[in-house]
Amino acid sequence: MLDFNISNGVAVLRFDNPPVNSFGLEMRGLVMSALARAEADPAVEAVILIGSGKGFSGGADIREFGTPKSYAEPHLLTLLRAIEECSKPVIAAIEGICMGGGLEMALACHYRVAVASARIALPEVKLGLLPGAGGTQRLPRVIGVEAALNMIVSGAPVSAEKLRATPLFDVFSEGDLLPSALDFAHTVSKERRDPRRLRDLSIRMPNAEAYLQFARNTIKAAAGPYPAPLACVEAIAAAVKEPFDKGMKRERELFANLMQTPESAALRHIFQAERAASHIRDVPDSTAPRAINRVGVIGAGTMGGGITMTFINAGLPVVLLETTQDALDRGLAAIRRNYQGALRKGTLDEASLEKRLALITPTLQYERLRDADLVVEAVFERMDVKQQVFEKLDGIAKPGAILATNTSALNLDSIAQFTSRPADVVGLHFFSPANVMRLLEVVRGAKTAKDVLATATTLAKKLGKLAVVSGVCDGFIGNRMVARYGEAAHDLLLAGALPQQIDAALQNFGMVMGPFRMSDLAGLDIGWAVRKRRAAEYPNLDWSNVADVLCAGGRFGQKTGLGWYRYESGSRNAIPDPEVRAIIEKYRAQKGITPRTVGEDEIVERCIYALVNEGARIVEEGIAQRSSDVDMVYLNGYGFPAYRGGPMFYADQAGLIDVARALRRIASSPGADAAFWTPAPLLARLAQEGKTFSEFKGSSS
Ligand code: NAD
Repeated sequence: MLDFNISNGVAVLRFDNPPVNSFGLEMRGLVMSALARAEADPAVEAVILIGSGKGFSGGADIREFGTPKSYAEPHLLTLLRAIEECSKPVIAAIEGICMGGGLEMALACHYRVAVASARIALPEVKLGLLPGAGGTQRLPRVIGVEAALNMIVSGAPVSAEKLRATPLFDVFSEGDLLPSALDFAHTVSKERRDPRRLRDLSIRMPNAEAYLQFARNTIKAAAGPYPAPLACVEAIAAAVKEPFDKGMKRERELFANLMQTPESAALRHIFQAERAASHIRDVPDSTAPRAINRVGVIGAGTMGGGITMTFINAGLPVVLLETTQDALDRGLAAIRRNYQGALRKGTLDEASLEKRLALITPTLQYERLRDADLVVEAVFERMDVKQQVFEKLDGIAKPGAILATNTSALNLDSIAQFTSRPADVVGLHFFSPANVMRLLEVVRGAKTAKDVLATATTLAKKLGKLAVVSGVCDGFIGNRMVARYGEAAHDLLLAGALPQQIDAALQNFGMVMGPFRMSDLAGLDIGWAVRKRRAAEYPNLDWSNVADVLCAGGRFGQKTGLGWYRYESGSRNAIPDPEVRAIIEKYRAQKGITPRTVGEDEIVERCIYALVNEGARIVEEGIAQRSSDVDMVYLNGYGFPAYRGGPMFYADQAGLIDVARALRRIASSPGADAAFWTPAPLLARLAQEGKTFSEFKGSSS
């Protein structure tokens, strides 16, 4: 964890705590004692702190946040004070990452030697916090208020090179870092330089108050529901106005307050949940993925086009197969068109675009898929078409090639059976638009091989996607849940609410889009086709929906200019339509429903708790590995607000006992579908035990 060496009168403390040399309790204790040892040793004239692996340090150990370990001594603040007060010069030698508590430690050192490419950041704001170990007090003293404020409020990394003009770094190392740091340490000790403490610098900024007020105004407008960015400004204001120790106290208070906010709790949950998602329970992290260098995509429609863009954006060549030249040409034209936005914005130039497009080999011949390491099928959502495609693929694809389907809801195990190699078959469920949406549901069939799953999660990272593993069920995690959400919204419509009222309530809750606007965007015909198929499969259930009436009248959503709303030509602006109101009123009358007033709270409660209840079933059945995976699906695929952490985390915060009580109340209300609203067994059990979804580690463990 920590190497201690004395080289020519200089103690070198090297952090070796992969992956990012974070400062958990044990590490803090080790650095503290090594520092004391160096200080006590008369042979030591100076101390160097240096990292290894990915760099200096990524900062605090976030797994300790909120646990007694994070408060236990030596606290990071205690350690930093010991460094600052050390009687011998302490030098931070910085390369790679130097972030959060890592940068705060470097700021507490007396000198800093860096390589120009080192990545410097105080990213705490991204977790809804502020740098709580002196970062807001020392950084403005050394790089200036404006530059520090930009770094602290954005959390974005900058290269050491960018800060060359400031006194932050005493020396830039041109060659190997340690020899440069040792040279510098010897100079400092030879010249008997005193330890230089950033706390002693004063901030001179004549117009500071006006600048801070300007910053407050702009940041307030941009911060939305998050309190952290403004708290960062307040901490920096204290650095400007107060003596160092008072500023430190203010920083601590602000940090402690932010730690208690639901927004920070949600962001910290997301941080950990994203990392957890890539671990598949019975697939060891050491499982070697298969090499993916050449990809095939079948179908150049909406999804096939977006999936192709995703691969070529990551530099992977794609053989794109269609049934007709016409469909192929249309698909390629759509791909080119979809890049126009990036060209206009200047994020992509013509030459790079042509280079990317050259990675596509369009074809009508299955033969061309022979060399592909992975083939993703995105043809019509019909089992007979999927069968035809997978049987052909099975005959052509090389041994070991991964055969993936982008199906939204069809049974993956049935699709796998169309091949002689079900272990190589997996679902790669991209979301629309595939080149934009971050979520990738990796659907695991009964026979999918472990290394195929490991390949899917590794590939997702390369594509810039977040992979979440789902078991096989109708709709997988996301669409199965959204169906329940849609049903709850439809019930509210029948009860007396209008689409615009339901959408507004859920948008006020923080959803990017309400269910009716979302449905207009996706196209009402998709759900109509599904209901017709289901009505044929399960004739004794009632599949009817107001949307059937809209569809029968040609209202398919945005693409026809009419859906739950009306759209003016070329505009995505949803305009409430009196005709839709009339259709809903007539539908209610036919069903013998007397409309009642539906309030905003009721809309949010029913729609969100419908999601939670289905999420609980999904977790209990093991379709999702953990409740945080459900949150990741919802946040990255369905526009759930990040500051609420996802539906399951939201329910945990609300208290499962209260969620279960609300569900029971709805279940027993007049006209309610009791089976739909009765709390899922897992939810009921956890509520009774006073536990949370986060504490549930799966049915099998
Ligand atoms: P689409 O109709 O836009 O495109 C399908 C394409 O497949 C068409 O271009 C068609 O010519 C081609 N095709 C049909 N049969 C083929 C065959 N035998 N060989 C080669 N090409 C063939 O459909 P889409 O929206 O892109 O959906 C494709 C798949 O992705 C479906 O399984 C769908 O459920 C799934 N999906 C869709 C979305 C979405 O939002 N549209 C999201 C996730 C997943």
